[in-house]
Amino acid sequence: APAPPPARHLFSDPAEVEALRGNLLAWYDRCKRDLPWRALAATEPDANRRGYAVWVSEIMLQQTQVATVIDYYNRWMQKWPTLQALAQASLEEVNELWAGLGYYSRGKRLQQAARKVVSELAGRMPRTAEDLQKLLPGVGRYTAGAIASISYGQATGVVDGNVIRVLCRLRCIGANSSSPAVIDHLWDMANVLVDSSRPGDFNQALMELGATVCVPKAPLCGECPVKQHCQAWRRKLFGKPLPVPDVEDCGVGDCPLCPPATEPWDSSLGVTNFPRKAAKKPPRVMRTATCVLERRGCHGAPEYLIVQRPNSGLLAGLWEFPSLPLAQDLQEETERKELADHLQAWMGQPVAAKSLQFIGEVIHIFSHIHQTYVVYSLHLDGDMTLDPALSPSRWVTEDEFHASAVSTAMKKV
Ligand code: SF4
Repeated sequence: APAPPPARHLFSDPAEVEALRGNLLAWYDRCKRDLPWRALAATEPDANRRGYAVWVSEIMLQQTQVATVIDYYNRWMQKWPTLQALAQASLEEVNELWAGLGYYSRGKRLQQAARKVVSELAGRMPRTAEDLQKLLPGVGRYTAGAIASISYGQATGVVDGNVIRVLCRLRCIGANSSSPAVIDHLWDMANVLVDSSRPGDFNQALMELGATVCVPKAPLCGECPVKQHCQAWRRKLFGKPLPVPDVEDCGVGDCPLCPPATEPWDSSLGVTNFPRKAAKKPPRVMRTATCVLERRGCHGAPEYLIVQRPNSGLLAGLWEFPSLPLAQDLQEETERKELADHLQAWMGQPVAAKSLQFIGEVIHIFSHIHQTYVVYSLHLDGDMTLDPALSPSRWVTEDEFHASAVSTAMKKV
């Protein structure tokens, strides 16, 4: 069996754990934000409805700010106050209510899972984190723990981005916070810390602390209710962590939870030395040829051809000018020829490569892709018949183009 982590990365003193719980919960009782799902979870006698309400709020809160979610949550619960009501809704209705919240698959999955609870589980929400995760599509370990602890009082911890930050600071964990070893350790810590008499409040308190006090860039350590338990804070104040080991980082290079020996504690960063993330992978470099195909519309105004992207992958379902990903390091002549062949498929007639006019290059950075669009234009004298067997396509005026579902990158083009 692997050796247990060094004591400085653990909560092994029961008296300290008890004190931390007490301080955190007292702070939460005083300072917690007033949120509609909290009010419902605290007062709703129907356990099924409590679970449903927390579930809806947790799914909406993934990737989205609390302030944005409140209005959506209230409208959702008004329209579908129960699982049964949601199970009867159409996907179109769900998408309409979700419009503007982003990541549309979340709403769809929520509704599919509600249908499953109604049709396969006799309308009864699973009551433990293990069953929630196993039985509900779209419910992962964090969401399952949140629903089970907040709605059903199960003493199970949760680890989300806020909890990762707080725990890494409390225990000076400086190894890559997304590595499996660190994540496993954080779940173990969360399960040790959770207060068995108020698990839902404790978990929300830990997340609330991360969201409002132990924030990423400028944490408010002076106001922090658990600062006396925080190794990062001690280290910032006194230059050493507590309990004081002989060396500042345990077994430099060997400890799976300490900062790597190559990136030691940086005193100018203070507590924000923690958590550490792995260096981001450099973005993928891509080059795409695109053609702004223009014709004279029936009222004389220019019109442009746009085509729809596939329903999965990058920019799924959005519209763009006919485009073709290119291999790297092609000669301009070859790029032009490949684009001409690609356009021929759309136009049903040969396109001379030399008729494509080079306009320029547009660079757009997606989160993980450094994309260069090589932009050409082509003016059509006559009309052309679009092949209905290809992806959906249509001619649009400039105004219609801007009102269509096109990406920012295409607007730049
Ligand atoms: Fe976070 Fe500072 Fe509190 Fe430590 S003392 S938990 S770093 S806010």
